[in-house]
Amino acid sequence: MSDLDFVSGSKPIRLERGEGASLYTADGTAYLDAGASYACTPLGHSHPAVVEAVQEQVGDLTFVDSSYPVAARENAYAALVAAAPDGLESAWFCNSGTEANEAALKFARSATGESKIVAATRSFHGRTMGSLAATWKDKYKKPYEPLAGDVEFVPYGDVEELAAAVDDETAAVILEPIQGEGGINVPATGYLETARELTADAGAALVLDEVQTGMGRTGEMWACQHAGVTPDVLTTAKGLGNGLPVGAVAVQDWIADGAASHNATFSGGPVVAAAVHATVSTLVEEEWPAHAADLGDFLVTELEAALGDAVREVRGRGLLVGIELKRGANRVARDLAMNQQVLALPAGRTVLRLLPPLVIDEADAAQLVDALTATIASETDAQS
Ligand SMILES: *Cc1c(COP(=O)(O)O)cnc(C)c1O
Repeated sequence: MSDLDFVSGSKPIRLERGEGASLYTADGTAYLDAGASYACTPLGHSHPAVVEAVQEQVGDLTFVDSSYPVAARENAYAALVAAAPDGLESAWFCNSGTEANEAALKFARSATGESKIVAATRSFHGRTMGSLAATWKDKYKKPYEPLAGDVEFVPYGDVEELAAAVDDETAAVILEPIQGEGGINVPATGYLETARELTADAGAALVLDEVQTGMGRTGEMWACQHAGVTPDVLTTAKGLGNGLPVGAVAVQDWIADGAASHNATFSGGPVVAAAVHATVSTLVEEEWPAHAADLGDFLVTELEAALGDAVREVRGRGLLVGIELKRGANRVARDLAMNQQVLALPAGRTVLRLLPPLVIDEADAAQLVDALTATIASETDAQS
């Protein structure tokens, strides 16, 4: 079995049930889910509030299109706009992260009348043609070209290169506040603030892709809130429905006013809307973002103490943590799963990514640290 096979869908672990931060196979073996299946379950697996809301809604009214007013959609909308950074007063629902970014780029183009998109090296914004055009990795793009062009890439975190790229013809700058797939890259203080100023001066839209960083993961509801930056467009998906397929785009008024025709058949369907309402209101009311901040600090401190020189760096914010290894991350992820019953994700070749459900407790975090320590120590032994 190659490393690639393992991470691309043939994991030899047949899961049957989930609860909190744990996943179980049919024989009852528990796995600690330190990846939340790509950050999709911030409240943990099969959270009762979400399960109940979805079960009720699917029985009452599974679907009507978005031209009919229904309570589930109105509640989801109200919860999302209330939880969004101040200044983002309108939102539109879609079904995934790539669709959210696709819409964001379309809205920016129609509101500005310009076409150029500025994106960052090592970005990931999704795999449909438009979002893919703003995604960095050639492996994802090359076989599908030509894409929806006019994208200029600048080195992530470099304010001077960003300043040089943003001009009067720029429709949007699209950035992840912390890069996820690209390796948990945290930009220096001031980067997002500068991006905010540059786009405002140029009349361009600042699009922040919070598909991975949002929903409380970094210790604030949205990662941009650490910098006090409000984008013109914020995109979210992954954890928005705690595992149901839903995304959203929250926008400032000038973007909403300038948006041309755009929609999707399943936009804000009642069942996913019920999941969004339950997820967002539970996260906010039970203050899970603050818990993520505390647990993230605990986890990083413990990891640094336990791993020391066995790794190059532990970085991140809240419960979005990257460990820069001295060797391949796929292999470490596989050994963690097979020998320690801990599920983690690679983010690039040498970074192991931890994005557990926000509901993990200190015992879970300690288990995670022990599992990583055992795995990385044994790998180091095997190497020498
Ligand atoms: C996963 C991800 C996407 C794409 O989301 P999909 O739901 O897979 O389309 C976009 N942006 C970021 C930052 C992501 O992590």
